[in-house]
Amino acid sequence: MIDKLVGWASLLLLIGFTGGGFVAAIATVYDGTYQKHHVAISVATWFLATLGITLYYHRFVTHRSYRFSTVGKYVLRPFLAWFGLLSWQGPPKRWCAVHRHHHKHSDQDEDMHSPHAPYSKWWGALWAHTFWIPYAVPEEQPKDLDKFDRVMSRTEVYLLLGPGSGVVLSYLLGGLVGIAWYLASVFVSTCILTWAINSLCHLVGSRDLETGDLSTNVLILGWLTGGEALHNGHHGFQKSPRFAHKPWEVPFDTGYLALRVFEFLGLVDTLKVPTADQVLKRLRTA
Ligand SMILES: [Zn+2]
Ligand SMILES: [Zn+2]
Repeated sequence: MIDKLVGWASLLLLIGFTGGGFVAAIATVYDGTYQKHHVAISVATWFLATLGITLYYHRFVTHRSYRFSTVGKYVLRPFLAWFGLLSWQGPPKRWCAVHRHHHKHSDQDEDMHSPHAPYSKWWGALWAHTFWIPYAVPEEQPKDLDKFDRVMSRTEVYLLLGPGSGVVLSYLLGGLVGIAWYLASVFVSTCILTWAINSLCHLVGSRDLETGDLSTNVLILGWLTGGEALHNGHHGFQKSPRFAHKPWEVPFDTGYLALRVFEFLGLVDTLKVPTADQVLKRLRTA
């Protein structure tokens, strides 16, 4: 009972603050008080938070689909982790637990955010997009997180380095209007785009790979989510750092393209992707 109350309070605070920021940012457009640097705060927040979620929370912490080099461990990893914290999606440990649970039970009754069983289609979409959050109770906590991620996942560290530093930094850069544009960006990148991976990417789009669930690719959403919307490709090869498995999909998997840049710079390594043969065997038309 207490867990559910805390869950509902967290959800309402998240939507209240970030949605309120979104409305306030729109109001500054109408009254002319916003400036170019406020828009820049918003765009930078979306870009960095999206990178942090897909590259750090998802592809690294949850799936260990690549490694940081010795240099990357110090000059890239802390920043990627921080970018993820800025997105208001909770501590990485909880995110990892919920997401691993999703992969284990995808679109079955136990799946905490499937738009399918046991819900009807449209209520299911709303449930998978938002309302599952207060009821999320992952069956097990990840035990393979290292000390760095365990520290990043402590509530006080998360609140301080995540939402706290985002609000303070945006205030220093743009005053109260800066905070509004930062919160607006979190609202769009988390409450609209990331949450759409749980709803739309199990409902509409293409299902190229046989994955044993109803995950889909929504290509155009790939650009806005760092490649996360190539969700069927991800479900098919969960350990792969690349979610795109067809040549024309790769430009939409911007998270993977970023990893390739980091690999070129010597900051990450071991980008092991499935072979063409392995992909061919999983195609639904094969
Ligand atoms: Zn999924
Ligand atoms: Zn995953």
